[in-house]
Amino acid sequence: AKDSGRNTYRFHNPQMSLDVIEHLQIYHGLRRAIDRDEFVLYYQPQIDLASGRITGAEALLRWQEPERGLVTPGRFIAIAEESGLITPIGEWVLEEACRQAAAWCQMGVSNLVVAVNISAVQFLRGNLDDSVVRALERSGLAADLLELELTESALIHNTENTLGVVRRLKSLGVKLSIDDFGTGYSNLAYLRRFAVDKIKIDQSFVRDMLDDPNDAAIIRAIIQMARTLNLKTIAEGVEHERTLDALRRCQCDEVQGYHISEPLPTDQFTRFLLTWREG
Ligand code: C2E
Ligand code: CA
Ligand code: CA
Ligand code: CA
Repeated sequence: AKDSGRNTYRFHNPQMSLDVIEHLQIYHGLRRAIDRDEFVLYYQPQIDLASGRITGAEALLRWQEPERGLVTPGRFIAIAEESGLITPIGEWVLEEACRQAAAWCQMGVSNLVVAVNISAVQFLRGNLDDSVVRALERSGLAADLLELELTESALIHNTENTLGVVRRLKSLGVKLSIDDFGTGYSNLAYLRRFAVDKIKIDQSFVRDMLDDPNDAAIIRAIIQMARTLNLKTIAEGVEHERTLDALRRCQCDEVQGYHISEPLPTDQFTRFLLTWREG
């Protein structure tokens, strides 16, 4: 009776055990993914609204898993964070993005900033500054062509170490943006303390801004505040021309989203760069 009781408990929720199995499979797969060269970066263009220029490329991680195909970060970043694998994975991302940005420079593409997502876990473990220095040195990329996208949660634990790492990165000339802005703590003091360059307005506000007056008001308030603090603004998740027009009217600086382009593999992004017409 005891045994069957245990079995009942164990298999009470078959979905749960499948989740656990998948979790383990992903964890084991991730451990080998770097050595097996299974990660790739996709790039999504960022456009300056006033000039129509492509100012940046956000690097977005994909995992080419042999059995699952192309896996997006939503399926594996949390597991990488829990297990600490985010550190080597994040270092690979930094190196690969810097190497690619340097290659675009060599092709004659000027002033294209590559934006790299940094997990709060990766950031708080420290040594991010060392990883960045190494990636810049190995690639030969100018520091001001690298932007780090941090979330509010990374900066809110505002310890001496955090401040030291950010100061060193800023002194190199690396740019800093706050990702998913508006969804976190909305403590504005750190924007100044960390000398942030840019705010990325979260796509949850952008998506509904035409239908929801609250979202539109939040976006206007964020842009207003950013202008007062002398920060650039970018709206992400722009899917329609009408949204782009509305953002232009709000004096948002830059846009990013499916309306301009989905994230693209490197060769397709290069083609996009070469065929994009400004204005
Ligand atoms: P994020 O940094 O907020 O990235 C934006 C996400 O929205 C990306 O999903 C992108 O493909 C998607 N997106 C872009 N334009 C549109 C649009 O117009 N509409 C909609 N609905 N979605 C759009 P993705 O690539 O699946 O990445 C998800 C998240 O995974 C990212 O959110 C980021 O937090 C994380 N991530 C991605 N790459 C990395 C990485 O290299 N390192 C770390 N630590 N995290 C990463
Ligand atoms: Ca991002
Ligand atoms: Ca975001
Ligand atoms: Ca996000």
